[in-house]
Amino acid sequence: MKYLGRFFTLLVVFIMGMAVSVSAAVVMIDPGHGGEGTEGCGAIYPPYFEKNLTLDVANQLCAELNASGVSAEMTRTTDKALSLPERAAIAKNSGAKMLISIHFNASAPHDKTGSAVWTSMFGNHYKAGAECGGQILSQLTALGFVNKGIWTKAGSQGDYYGVIRYGTSLGIPTIIIEHCYMDNAVDRAILERVGTGALAHADAAGIISFFSGATGQALVNGTLDTSAANYASASVAAGAGSSAGSSAGSAASSLKSNFTDAEWQWLLSQWAYTGNAEAVMSQVPLSDLKALIEEHNKGNI
Ligand SMILES: [Zn+2]
Repeated sequence: MKYLGRFFTLLVVFIMGMAVSVSAAVVMIDPGHGGEGTEGCGAIYPPYFEKNLTLDVANQLCAELNASGVSAEMTRTTDKALSLPERAAIAKNSGAKMLISIHFNASAPHDKTGSAVWTSMFGNHYKAGAECGGQILSQLTALGFVNKGIWTKAGSQGDYYGVIRYGTSLGIPTIIIEHCYMDNAVDRAILERVGTGALAHADAAGIISFFSGATGQALVNGTLDTSAANYASASVAAGAGSSAGSSAGSAASSLKSNFTDAEWQWLLSQWAYTGNAEAVMSQVPLSDLKALIEEHNKGNI
């Protein structure tokens, strides 16, 4: 009985261990911008600094999601700079099923209004992003913001916006929420009347509703195919012609000379998901790869 008892103890510990891994973050909340100088601020319209608004909303959103049983983490909890690939890598390493980047808009003439969501143009990345974004927008609209809809934008390497491109490259559906125009009198009046907590609550209600539905459940269960898009598809296209394929190969080998073997292996592991990590990495700016390594060496990723 003694050994049987120990066996059951081990079994319980094992099952608890499994439960912990299963309950890894479902959602990675990414407060946009952060860090020193005007570069880190995002949009500026005194007294508002976008980097502070995004962190404020993200803190409240993350707390509400966790209290509601949708496990959430944040890419940054302090005022620090993160590159776009870092934000995607943090999401991937946490096991997140979705990356949600928090932003506020501004325009030079200060005359634009409304809430909008940007997502990937690819397959199920679009399906998940558009459905989740639609739920969030209906909540933000209830606060009084104009619904400007779901948007995608193509760039030379796939999706135009970096955090969406890197997120979907790692197989994680990614959205950007542009909550409102912080420099517009109409939107600011709503923002100041309802407060950032109401925006966070709107995001949380939309996200919870999405993950309660069929697509959100399929995303959590792994039955929704969110294979990597963007760089992966770009590299497959480049590999179709032999000259393009060989130039991609030599670019990757010269890229390797910038890193130690251990660093290179770690980088490869980050894009192993794409099935062609070297070709993918050859299209990522060297400064971004070095920033990733720096964070990895500090133990942050
Ligand atoms: Zn922004």
